[in-house]
Amino acid sequence: MAKEKKGVRLEHISKIYKDPKTGKDFYAVKDANLEIEPGSFVTLLGPSGCGKTTTLRMIAGFESPDEGEIYLGNEPINALTPNKRDTAMVFQSYALLPHYNIFDNVAYGLKLRKMDKNVIKKKVTDILDLVGLQGMENRMTNQLSGGQQQRVALARALVIEPGVLLFDEPLSNLDAKLRVSMRTEIRRIQQEAGITAVYVTHDQSEAMAISDKVIIMNKGIVEQISTPQEAYYYPNNQFVADFIGEANFLKATVEGQDMVNINGSKVKCATGSLSAGNECNVVLRPEGAALTDNGTVKAKVVYSCFMGPYQDYHVMVGDTLVKIQDYNPKNSKIYKVGDEAFLSFAENTLYAL
Ligand code: ATP
Repeated sequence: MAKEKKGVRLEHISKIYKDPKTGKDFYAVKDANLEIEPGSFVTLLGPSGCGKTTTLRMIAGFESPDEGEIYLGNEPINALTPNKRDTAMVFQSYALLPHYNIFDNVAYGLKLRKMDKNVIKKKVTDILDLVGLQGMENRMTNQLSGGQQQRVALARALVIEPGVLLFDEPLSNLDAKLRVSMRTEIRRIQQEAGITAVYVTHDQSEAMAISDKVIIMNKGIVEQISTPQEAYYYPNNQFVADFIGEANFLKATVEGQDMVNINGSKVKCATGSLSAGNECNVVLRPEGAALTDNGTVKAKVVYSCFMGPYQDYHVMVGDTLVKIQDYNPKNSKIYKVGDEAFLSFAENTLYAL
C-alpha cells in the first residue's frame, strides 16, 4: 500500500534543551546514530525522560536537531517542515476531529491534497477494512471506545501513504488488556501495509512483542540497537540488562575463555572480549537457573513461594541476593526457607559484562 518503503538514518543527532529549574543546557539526545531499515518496525525504548519522544519528534520535524542530520531514504530532511516530510504520526491522544464522523476524519488528509472524490472513497474504505472498522464510516468519533479511536487515528495516518509511520506511545491511554490486543493489531497492520514504523514506548514487554529491533536509550544516549532477543541475552551493559526483563548480577572473575569463577566455583559463561583475571558481573535471568542438591555454586534459600508456573526463590550466593524462577515446580523438589542448595544453570544462559 505504501508508495515506497523508506528507511530512516540519524547521523550524530543531538538535541539540547534548557533545564527550566537550573537554567542550564543539557543534552536531551546526545550523538545518536541510528539506521532504521525500510519496512522494519523499530521501537525507541527507555525510562521516562531518556529522550525517546524528542528523537521521534525530530524525525517528524516537530523539533529540530542542534547537531547532526536526519535522512529519510537518501534525502536529508532537517530543513523540511513536518508537512513536507514523508511521515505521519499517531499520537497518544488520538488527535481526532470530534465533530466529524469516521469517514471524514480519515478522508481529511486526502481532501487537503485535493484528491478526486471517488479515489478518496476507495482509499478510505480500504484503510477502514485494514484497521478493522469496515462499515463504521458514519459513526461519530465521540461515540467510539478508546481502542476504536486509536484505530481511526491509525487509519488517518496510513491513508496518506507515508514512507514512514511514527507512533508516540499510542496505547498508553488504553486499559492493560486492550493494550495487548491493540499492539498485535498494530504489528499486523504495519506488516500488511508494508510500511516502516518507528514506535515510542517505555513498556519493555510492548517493545519486545512488536519490534524487529529495539533502540534502548538512557539519559539521551543510545545504549543498544538490536533485536529484542539480542538485548535480552547479550545486553551491552548493566542498564540494558536491567531494563529489558529482570536480571541478577553475580560478581565473578574471568578464569579463561568462557569460564568464570563465581564465589569460589568455576562455571561456564560467555565472556565476550573480557580476558582472564578481569572482575566482571555475570548476568543471570531468573529462569536461567534452577536449584539442585548437587552442583557448583552454593545458594541459601531466603524466600520460596509457589507461583503456579514456577517456584519463586530468593537465594543468597555469598552476600548477593539472587532471584530464581524454577519452572514446572510440580516435577521438581521444592526448597524451603533456610535450605542449602546449589544453582544449576541452563545451557548458554550466563553472560559476563
Ligand atoms: P517520557 O516517556 O516521559 O515521555 P521521553 O524519553 O520521551 O520521556 P523526552 O520527552 O524526549 O523523554 O524528554 C527528554 C528530556 O528533555 C527530559 O528531561 C524532558 O524533561 C526534557 N524536555 C523535553 N522537551 C523539553 C522542552 N521543550 N524544553 C526543555 N526540556 C525538555
